[in-house]
Amino acid sequence: MQIVVHYHEIALKGNNRNLFVKRLVANLRRTFRDLGEVRVRTLYGRITFSLECEDIEEIHRRMSGVFGVANYACVREVPQELEAMRQAAWQALQEAHGSTFAVRCRRPDKSFPMRSTALEREIGGYLHDQCRLSGREMKVDLSHPQITVRLELVNKVALVSGERFPGPGGLPVGTAGKIVGLLSSGFDSPVAAWQLMKRGAEIVLCHFHSYPFTNKASLDNCRQLAEILTRYQYRTRLYLVGFAPVQEELLSLTPADMRMILYRRSMIRIASLVAAREGAPALLTGESLGQVASQTLTNMRVIDQAAELPILRPLVGTDKEDILQAARRIGTYELSARPYEDCCSLMLSKHPCTKARLREVLELEANMELAPLEAQAVEWAEIVDLFWQGRTVEQKIIQEPVYKEGPLVCPLEQESL
Ligand code: ATP
Ligand code: MG
Repeated sequence: MQIVVHYHEIALKGNNRNLFVKRLVANLRRTFRDLGEVRVRTLYGRITFSLECEDIEEIHRRMSGVFGVANYACVREVPQELEAMRQAAWQALQEAHGSTFAVRCRRPDKSFPMRSTALEREIGGYLHDQCRLSGREMKVDLSHPQITVRLELVNKVALVSGERFPGPGGLPVGTAGKIVGLLSSGFDSPVAAWQLMKRGAEIVLCHFHSYPFTNKASLDNCRQLAEILTRYQYRTRLYLVGFAPVQEELLSLTPADMRMILYRRSMIRIASLVAAREGAPALLTGESLGQVASQTLTNMRVIDQAAELPILRPLVGTDKEDILQAARRIGTYELSARPYEDCCSLMLSKHPCTKARLREVLELEANMELAPLEAQAVEWAEIVDLFWQGRTVEQKIIQEPVYKEGPLVCPLEQESL
């Protein structure tokens, strides 16, 4: 099967074009390489590639994850013989959705004896008869057809294509640089990561857990969420960061209602260390304005002050219901719906502060030894690389984890909860 891919011209001004097209070609190769040889040609404004795979459903499934594809069509290459062209055109029409059609023909190679308009009429008539015989209600509409069956006669062959299927849009992953994404096991952050992948970013995922003081559910969920997200960016680096040593220090002085804010600020500082290590100029969270206590404007501002890097929040204006719908489409919903013990719920107040004051927060932090523990958190993290292999995802451990031992001491717990 051959596929012709069209991309949005809008992103392709000036020098970006080459980078963009090269990356899209590389991503298309990665998407299909486990199905056999992929041969690619780039022409002005489109990419054509051939696959050994003939399974149209499998092709649709995979194309739906290739960011940068505006639309695509399947192309059949047949000899310049009337019967072969009829059959290919009929197949293309059968795969298409719609109730009106037209046939268009181009003949750069003039060796076939019929002229374009005569061939259009001939094939159109054949398709019309086939529709009637098979009971499919289809009309010819030459001015606004829902489906255009295209025949292109080039280099002694005929290229026959039908419906243009919409791609996911966006920009090819890998064209916008790296971002460190804070991944919880909840619904929002995987959707946020996906959204910026769709804008071309490569997301390094960073999950904080309190194992062995909580169970391993959030770690397992995040590994699997990372697998699903790897489908869209082909390669993912995942940091699983033990947060308990930092929490213990924070618990020593912080009143329960302020802990959420201090946990978040510390996460942001650790994620910034990961960003420095990975060469990422920005961070990403799944926060949405007003969704929970830590996500008020006042608190977001106090959290922002913990980072020098910009914190991107693609879901800041998105309703939960829309986020859940997106999670279903992306494929992360089921995993995010699983129960897990969140590191942030450890020794947290039922009434977290919604209006943190920066001065107060800074004073609390100044009395603690957080920086060495935050650096250690990165040194002790488990680091895993995930590689997309088409039907499976391979995992490779880059750094083995070290976990905190002994009990978690919280002197303020009794009085403050
Ligand atoms: P989510 O559904 O993404 O967990 P949420 O509605 O539960 O979001 P919070 O728990 O307040 O909201 O988290 C806000 C954001 O902070 C998350 O979207 C995520 O980016 C980050 N975050 C929260 N907990 C963790 C964690 N344990 N590890 C990494 N990032 C986290
Ligand atoms: Mg959460």
